[in-house]
Amino acid sequence: MHIKLNNINFSYKDGDNRKEIFKNFSYEIETGKLVMILGPSGCGKSTLLNIIGGLLQPENGEVILGNTSYYSLKQKERDKFRKYNIGYIFQNFYLIEDLSPIDNVLISMPDKRSISEKEKYIKSILEELGIAEKADSPLNTFSGGEQQRLAIARALSRDAKLLICDEPTGSLDEINAIQIIEILKKISQQGKTVIVVTHNASLCEYADEVLELTKEVREKEGEHATDH
Ligand code: ADP
Ligand code: MG
Repeated sequence: MHIKLNNINFSYKDGDNRKEIFKNFSYEIETGKLVMILGPSGCGKSTLLNIIGGLLQPENGEVILGNTSYYSLKQKERDKFRKYNIGYIFQNFYLIEDLSPIDNVLISMPDKRSISEKEKYIKSILEELGIAEKADSPLNTFSGGEQQRLAIARALSRDAKLLICDEPTGSLDEINAIQIIEILKKISQQGKTVIVVTHNASLCEYADEVLELTKEVREKEGEHATDH
């Protein structure tokens, strides 16, 4: 999915004032790219992800996802758009411990296929992500890296065209972090747009583009990506 942000302004309430996070910010991401967003804690990485991911409406400016000016949609249409187009991956996985791995994925699949068809599809994704052998094991036997793979499977099962990843390797060791990034890279090469927020600058070698959210970048107009 192609993404375009045009002249975004975003601020949070800060006492009697407003804290400006983005001012006249524009940015564009082509389909099939892996983009990494870097910057110190509090610089606005999650805010930007949530704006792109359709969860946080900017005060003005436009967010174009594919051919859709997302925040021009009515709330109900936005919800539908998100459900079918965007997958979310977080540092803390947000899996449901009491459900089986397959059911964790199954409950987030919105389409009308039969359960057995869906299960078959889920198993093929688990296979691709290298956790097929864990399909019938309880979640409390999953390592951090395996849990994150399952969370990725959940995002993929919805056939999302955009993956929004907020510190997906934040609670993993270096080896698992690299494995997860390699999976996300492969997913982007299959034609999905993948946006990853990270603290870990060493992972940026996997990125097609790196967006470093300095104050200057957040408060100016134009292109800020550095090619890799
Ligand atoms: P990052 O993900 O880079 O750590 P965030 O996007 O979460 O940063 O936050 C950017 C800034 O906005 C921080 O200074 C944070 O304290 C502030 N902030 C985040 N969410 C809110 C909120 N709901 N209300 C007020 N301020 C917020
Ligand atoms: Mg954050």
